Amino acid sequence: MDLYEHQARELFDRYGVPVPEAQVADTARAARAAAEALDADRHGVVVKAQVKTGGRGKAGGVKRAADAAAAEITARQMLGMDIKGHTVHSVMLAGPVAVEQEFYISYVLDRAAGRFMAIASAEGGMEIEEVAAARPEAVARIPVDPAEGVTDEKAAEIAAAAGLPADTAPVLRRLWRVLESEDALLVEVNPLVRTADGAIVALDGKVTLDDNARFRQTRWGDATEPAEATELGRLEAAAAAKGLNYVKLDGEVGVIGNGAGLVMSTLDVVAGCGARPANFLDIGGGASAQVMADGLSVVLGDPAVKSLLVNVFGGITACDAVADGITQALGRIRLTKPLVVRLDGNNAELGRAILDEHPHPLLEQRTTMDGAAQRAAELATSAATAA
Ligand code: ADP
Ligand code: MG
Repeated sequence: MDLYEHQARELFDRYGVPVPEAQVADTARAARAAAEALDADRHGVVVKAQVKTGGRGKAGGVKRAADAAAAEITARQMLGMDIKGHTVHSVMLAGPVAVEQEFYISYVLDRAAGRFMAIASAEGGMEIEEVAAARPEAVARIPVDPAEGVTDEKAAEIAAAAGLPADTAPVLRRLWRVLESEDALLVEVNPLVRTADGAIVALDGKVTLDDNARFRQTRWGDATEPAEATELGRLEAAAAAKGLNYVKLDGEVGVIGNGAGLVMSTLDVVAGCGARPANFLDIGGGASAQVMADGLSVVLGDPAVKSLLVNVFGGITACDAVADGITQALGRIRLTKPLVVRLDGNNAELGRAILDEHPHPLLEQRTTMDGAAQRAAELATSAATAA
């Protein structure tokens, strides 16, 4: 489970990681009161959209306001705004920090290595992805043995490898304590800053808790908003209610497939075609009209989706059954976005023939996975340019 920034901030504070003064508000009026309490009329205030996604700054979800009245106006604009499919239901008002330098630090579970990885850079901030892509050497990766954790020596090693000032080390240690004590899989601070008066402060925070440890981290039981409160939660809850394995992603090509392995490779192929998958949805062995209708309606329910790709390799569930499922599903739901279907494997010819006999203006078939992904990517791109 991901935490909101304000929840991560609270955790940091509890473990002695310096954070700016802040308050959360879910109405513009409350934002004004919070800004007043933070002395915004004297120092200004930063208004930050609380959504469980990064890149808020670039999407207009982090704004400075000169005083409490301006904070109210900014909060009013931000509340209800959509950031990458996440509706803004609350804002955090934070004291403005005079930033002199921005750093990046995260601890993340490296499943392949069976360890954690400390990732750190002296060039943190909103361009960290660009920095990592253009100059990977500017981002240090130091393995952390979970049994040893981040000791004084380890913290010094991480700081030195990344070119962080030596006085970030105590913060690096405390952030590890957050991860360890809270059963987190990820703790990320971007940016960790040096302020004009020399302090080290965590200006942003992302924490992902290990759901398998929920039983001993009971405080989160009712501390987080119900899943339905977010656009993302709404889609995932709808899928879960239908027994579908669905994960929302950031892109625009909706992906449905049978079998987790096939769906994962479909995501890769879509990405290889220059588009971004909007979700992961595995219908498993189910090909019934109901499963297809459920799957299609969950994916169509995501406003970010511009085209859909159904990629099925028929095995025990043969392609003719899948084609029947799709045909009947299209009789039950209204298809509103272009759909590309690729059927292969058991009874593929028969399946394709069934779809040909039941044409739909928005449905196209391709016989290969690459061809289908390419077409779905094209359709998503042209829909995006037309919009
Ligand atoms: P995101 O990572 O989602 O874009 P951040 O919280 O990192 O959001 O904010 C984006 C940028 O805004 C930061 O890199 C930092 O430069 C600036 N910022 C964020 N919070 C504050 C603050 N309290 N005071 C001053 N600047 C801030
Ligand atoms: Mg950030």
